[in-house]
Amino acid sequence: MQNISTFDFTNKKVIVRVDFNVPLNNQLEVTDDTRITAALPTIKKIAETGYVILMSHLGRPKEKEEKFSLKHVIPKLSELLGKDVMFANDCIGQEVKDKIAEMKTGDVLLLENLRYYPEEKKGNKDFAKQLSDLADVYVNDAFGTAHRAHASTAIIADFFPENKMFGFLIENELESLQKVLAQPQKPFTAILGGAKVSSKITVIEQMLDNVDNLIIAGGMTYTFIKAQGGNIGTSLAEDEYIDTAKEIMTKAKELGTNLILPVDSVNADKFANDANTELTAVDQISEGWMGLDIGPKTIDLFSETIKNSKTILWNGPAGVFEMDNFANGTIQIANALVEATTRGAFTLIGGGDSVAALKKYNLENKVSYVSTGGGAMLEFLEGKDLPGIAAVKK
Ligand code: AMP
Repeated sequence: MQNISTFDFTNKKVIVRVDFNVPLNNQLEVTDDTRITAALPTIKKIAETGYVILMSHLGRPKEKEEKFSLKHVIPKLSELLGKDVMFANDCIGQEVKDKIAEMKTGDVLLLENLRYYPEEKKGNKDFAKQLSDLADVYVNDAFGTAHRAHASTAIIADFFPENKMFGFLIENELESLQKVLAQPQKPFTAILGGAKVSSKITVIEQMLDNVDNLIIAGGMTYTFIKAQGGNIGTSLAEDEYIDTAKEIMTKAKELGTNLILPVDSVNADKFANDANTELTAVDQISEGWMGLDIGPKTIDLFSETIKNSKTILWNGPAGVFEMDNFANGTIQIANALVEATTRGAFTLIGGGDSVAALKKYNLENKVSYVSTGGGAMLEFLEGKDLPGIAAVKK
């Protein structure tokens, strides 16, 4: 494996897997350029002396659908780079090779959506080979897809046994995650929220061993409260995970890990922003009502723990923050993280919804690190080998 900081890209054709899976509005304009901005350091570094060939997926096209064309990204990318970016109407084949032959040092070419070919997601070797034929060097800078063994994220690396490396974004992601996993400053607190226990169970188990405090929030809460015999009304609960929740509570006790559950709950009489609300103890929710946010006592409890921690990891909102009337718990957790960061704690936030929440309240620059990978970050924290990382390292 090579290193992007020291590699000599002079006159090299470099194919870079980026994550330009960005949101577009009805006019097909980019509405959030975070992912493009995150790739700029790598693109600029290579463009100093080499040729940059960018490849990405966008959305989930079933066929060659115009609305998923990566050409919609060109105006924003050109604006952010401060120069015109070239575009190829395909991602493999002679036409692309011809375009590359026209490139001059410093040029940047964006290829068409990789997922126009089903072979991409299938991790097809021949397709990966055709992509690799376009370049001398492979750089993976798409952390958001590093947990997928797709042609462009993992399989392609085999065709560059010598000349493969991570971009700056993946390097930074790995460094930040290592900081949290390897030698976290104590006390170490993880806040795991979001909808379901089932999707976070492995990371909960993994974190139990590593952290001093494990805060459970969001829809997951109610499966735990039900496991304790509480009344949760019609709140989200996964009955098949009640035993798992019990096991987690027992294991936390054995390990001496402080498992912190909400103590009060903001409940609604329907799943809507204009629902009637009641505030109750978390285990005394009225019949027919559902818990959609944490209450003020819980906010105090969580905030106190967060502010006294030196390393904090947050994944998943504390409530249905998409509805303004149930966003307060998530906002207050975000504020507590900002305060902890100001006091010198290392705060790492990942997962589409927690990051969206931070952005909604303009707090993303006030925490230590915002991960660009939700699923990839969780799998890394679960201790899994990410195919996109392993392929470059091997
Ligand atoms: P996840 O993708 O697992 O991180 O879950 C994020 C989703 O969990 C968001 O869309 C939230 O609206 C949802 N969520 C958070 N708290 C609750 C809750 N108490 N009841 C139902 N859904 C929730």
